[in-house]
Amino acid sequence: MLIAVALPLPLFRTFTYRVPDGLAGSVVPGSRVVVPFRSRKQLGIVIGSEEPREGIAYKDVVEAPDEAPVLDEPMLALCRWIAEYYIVPLGVALRTALPAALTGANVPAPVRKTRRVIQVVRELPSLIERDQLFARAPQQRAVYELLEAIGGRASVEHLAERIDFSASVLKGLVTRGLVEIAFETVERDPFLTRARREPDAHAPSDAQAHAIARLAVAPPGHVALLHGVTGSGKTLVYIELLKRVVIEEGKTAIVLVPEIALTPQTVDRFRAVFGDRIAVLHSALSDGERYDAWLALRRGEKRIAVGARSAIFAPVRDLGAIVVDEEHESSYKQGEAPRYHAREVAIVRARMEGAVVVLGSATPSLESWSNASSGKFELLTLPERAGGARLPVVAVVDLRDAKPKRPPSDNATGDAAFTFAISAPLEHALADRLAKREQSILLLNRRGYASFVQCGTCGDVAVCPDCSISLTYHRTPERLVCHYCQHSEPLHTSCPRCAGLRLRQRGLGTQQVERLLAERYPAARIARMDVDTTSGKWAHTEILDRVGAGEVDILLGTQMIAKGLDFPNVTLVGVIDADVGINLPDFRASERCFQLLSQVAGRAGRGPKGGEVLIQTRSPSHHAVRCAVTHDYHAFVKQELTGRKHPAYPPNVRIANVVLSGTQEDATARLATRAAEWLHKLLAARSTPGVSVIGPAPCPVERVKQRWRWHVLIKGERPQELGRVAQYLVERFEIPKQFGLRMTVDRDPVALL
Ligand code: ADP
Ligand code: ZN
Repeated sequence: MLIAVALPLPLFRTFTYRVPDGLAGSVVPGSRVVVPFRSRKQLGIVIGSEEPREGIAYKDVVEAPDEAPVLDEPMLALCRWIAEYYIVPLGVALRTALPAALTGANVPAPVRKTRRVIQVVRELPSLIERDQLFARAPQQRAVYELLEAIGGRASVEHLAERIDFSASVLKGLVTRGLVEIAFETVERDPFLTRARREPDAHAPSDAQAHAIARLAVAPPGHVALLHGVTGSGKTLVYIELLKRVVIEEGKTAIVLVPEIALTPQTVDRFRAVFGDRIAVLHSALSDGERYDAWLALRRGEKRIAVGARSAIFAPVRDLGAIVVDEEHESSYKQGEAPRYHAREVAIVRARMEGAVVVLGSATPSLESWSNASSGKFELLTLPERAGGARLPVVAVVDLRDAKPKRPPSDNATGDAAFTFAISAPLEHALADRLAKREQSILLLNRRGYASFVQCGTCGDVAVCPDCSISLTYHRTPERLVCHYCQHSEPLHTSCPRCAGLRLRQRGLGTQQVERLLAERYPAARIARMDVDTTSGKWAHTEILDRVGAGEVDILLGTQMIAKGLDFPNVTLVGVIDADVGINLPDFRASERCFQLLSQVAGRAGRGPKGGEVLIQTRSPSHHAVRCAVTHDYHAFVKQELTGRKHPAYPPNVRIANVVLSGTQEDATARLATRAAEWLHKLLAARSTPGVSVIGPAPCPVERVKQRWRWHVLIKGERPQELGRVAQYLVERFEIPKQFGLRMTVDRDPVALL
């Protein structure tokens, strides 16, 4: 007996092996096999049987570990679609659909029961005291400041991953009373022990009832776009759909959220209603725990999978519904092969398995909006906030009027620096909330202390040696850090180019704003939430739980604070700089900015006290800002769609971004030129209606991790022809084996940077 096996290798074909008699019973389509490949053993998936061909000596399957196939027929079909649409080998798509524990990539680590946790117990607000204390102990300082930077508490193991230190360093910190070390039991799954809240008992509003009723009569494969303003009660609609599908009809469901750690409230609401029927697939699970959850879903013990992007591959059977919450979020797109979009995979899976899909958002992606406009999706609308709440009043603070022309001198503290970051109206609003014991959220989508450091004499900006990106200045620990590759280096004392000594910090970051706020409002309880304070697996949830418990007065953070939060006592949202990212050379820059502003504004005024939003900007007339101020999604879409006609960008056209990269600049540019010429020739020789090729050009971020990057865009009016051209390129275009040259194709990219 011969079988076709798909291997997770960059080769667009399957491989044929012979099945020894003893293994025949456990070799069926969808099961794993270990096969000899070149001089190694490889884990692959059986796709089907093969006919023998003359004169070929087939190798034997070595092992067949599965009693039952790990992928069933619908999942194989879904992976075939992914492989074809995103132009990746089938073996690569199949590997993505399986938990790591089954792909042999990571052997599940034994679950450790306890760990050592180190916590700051004495803070050192005075820099002078700090310098004195650590004068002879730079290692202690480094550990202490790293700990500070990640929220004051971390496991010893986690710290050791970030910097090197000896046991005596920890001892020294403990002896001096600066930190404490304790043993802590490792919680297997915090979601299992989180307090179970009571289910909400709201009667649906008319708009909610209408949406629920429409979903109840939706035919298999139907897709509905639930456009509901922030706070309109989309979760209730999802829950009613799932009650019917899972509890009444006994089917299963998948709920996708952008990131579990950022949406504990949403998950809590589902758990309140469905309890043990839910498997929460969060990123803090070990491979072993994830595999346990996978098994429970597959056996039908769990009926609902809640998780981020990859939960779309949950092995549930008899699928009745898929919810994609915040469907506009770019985290649904995978950044490596297969570069799939979970929303698209959800739609295809639902069509194949007869389920209903709900895509929910207050700011739908332009793609989904145009699909709803053309009738491909059904549009369901929740135009008002639930429970009588009103959308917040949004006002603009024009920084061109409000600010001094030049930033105050370096390291300035006190009034000048504060006023530079926070305008008078925002300051008044903050002080007012602090006095009334109401909560505020401040958004600044830029982490670190200052976004770059510039020489005051020659203008030179410190950039990463490996990427074409300026280095961000971080305090605690004090380093210049590249946000693309994590390269870090000490702060220079003089300009490397002209030896000038006047180094200026430019561009506010969250660390600096946190410090300014702490100086201005010493009694306020301030929490900062960005990548640097949330490296612990449950750090996000801990911060959000503190906000929910009223233990935080001001929550300051990057875009991670803009998602899904529902805190009725938040009555003020301030945007410190709305212009971050607005001018990025990317066709989605305005859409991102509008979504971010609308979403963060939507955190205000969810309770009876109402809410106010202040947006500081230098571009008040930009349509992304203007339409966020007036809560006018439709006006934004209209203008944005027009702007994407000439030159055409999605959703007016489909695109594939072909990125060519290599370690040598000229060779990369030449390869890109050759790829573009190759494509032009192909278009001239074949009938490919509606397809065009743009470029080559250097990518906006020209160099990342020592690799030069160029790109060529393929545009197509219809997905079929575009797909065929891209497929042809991937399979036929030859890439020289030198200078580390590589080509990747990103279909329906979420960004072109
Ligand atoms: P969205 O996800 O649309 O932003 P949520 O689902 O978080 O909104 O709901 C916002 C708030 O409104 C929640 O606190 C929820 O409990 C409440 N809510 C939802 N539906 C109703 C209703 N019909 N009546 C009263 N309150 C409701
Ligand atoms: Zn870098």
